[in-house]
Amino acid sequence: MFKKSFSGARKSGSSGFRGGAGRGGYHGSFRGGSRGGSRGGFRGGGNRGKTEAINFARFINKVQVTEEIEVFKPEHQFQDFKIVENLKQAIINKGYVLPTPIQDRTIPQILLGSDLVGVANTGTGKTAAYLIPLINKVLMNRKEEVMIIVPTRELAIQIDDELKKFTKDMKIYSVCCVGGAPIGRQLSELRYEYNFIIGTPGRLKDLIERKRIFLNEFKTIVLDEADRMLDMGFVNDMRTIMKGMPKERQTLLFSATIASDVDTLIKEFLTNPIRISVKTQDVSKNIEQDVIRVERGTNKIDLLHDLLNNKELTKVLIFGRTKHGVEKLSNELMKRGFKAESIHGDKNHSRRQQALRMFKDNHSRILVATDVAARGLDIADISHVINYDIPATNDDYVHRIGRTGRGDKKGKAITFVE
Ligand code: ADP
Ligand code: MG
Repeated sequence: MFKKSFSGARKSGSSGFRGGAGRGGYHGSFRGGSRGGSRGGFRGGGNRGKTEAINFARFINKVQVTEEIEVFKPEHQFQDFKIVENLKQAIINKGYVLPTPIQDRTIPQILLGSDLVGVANTGTGKTAAYLIPLINKVLMNRKEEVMIIVPTRELAIQIDDELKKFTKDMKIYSVCCVGGAPIGRQLSELRYEYNFIIGTPGRLKDLIERKRIFLNEFKTIVLDEADRMLDMGFVNDMRTIMKGMPKERQTLLFSATIASDVDTLIKEFLTNPIRISVKTQDVSKNIEQDVIRVERGTNKIDLLHDLLNNKELTKVLIFGRTKHGVEKLSNELMKRGFKAESIHGDKNHSRRQQALRMFKDNHSRILVATDVAARGLDIADISHVINYDIPATNDDYVHRIGRTGRGDKKGKAITFVE
């Protein structure tokens, strides 16, 4: 059985609830920033119009391990899974030694063909939890076609890269269908045989309407960041896509946050789903959380400037609320001598990719982003996530700060509270 692998319980609440050093604690709640239609700025998913009361106590969690850590012991080793040998070898080549908890529990079920809802904290290997059994499915039957739908282009590209690493030399092909990128190349790639399509809703719909993708051929669909895919911005697209697919199919949903308000949609889209949650608390235990109180009359950017002067902040992802605000903030940081990149919906695809690459490759220490970067991105060694503007919902908070503290790494999250 999956045992709790940690004991560093949340320290917010009575004993641990205090603000950062010298800043004083802050009680109270607040409505998250209004959406103003510019959230993330990616196509199709624009304005969810969702805000909710946020309790700032949730943003504080001093990581303190008080008891001996119990190490997670998976029920399975990769060897035990009923998957073909060269896939096992590919997993070893990727450097994975043991399955993570979500992989341990979901891979056998997905291999059996079940519909499944998988919930696990950010950075705990959900991608491979569905890629491994689905690659096996394709290796067993080369005619299988799998569709993976995600909210942002960057995430689609990342998953496609991950798939390509697993399937090197297996003659498994994928097409990454995302907006912003030239459609011509996708159109020509779709002429050849493929087993996986990984895409964002807008471009997928376009290609379906042009009759370049035939939904009835897909017997497997994954919604990664599923709660986002099923919220107001995307749900109608998802409905259209699912309707075009065979009724007899395997449907998989994964996210770090799936609230009960999507239960009816789960019933609508999935058949007798198995639900697996390996979450033991809202936020990964590896992320230390704190707030900085912005006193009236102080300049937020000066506080950020001071913070960034600290050498401990080696790789920093800063979230702002609007595309305009993010652009302005990154320009201001550059004026102040910091090397910063930015990504948001007003930037074109190639400039977004370029900014991400600079940050990933450590050519830039700072990336300023809208929530377009909040979901799913796996960037190695982000030391700090800073919420310069407050997120709109608690779940948005969870995903934003989940860009740090991935796998076994430690990370810090700092939220500016006004
Ligand atoms: P999630 O989707 O849960 O946020 P990811 O799938 O992006 O997490 O995985 C986070 C990181 O952990 C990635 O860099 C991935 O390659 C790595 N990873 C996944 N599974 C394993 C494993 N079994 N052993 C070691 N590293 C893993
Ligand atoms: Mg993920």
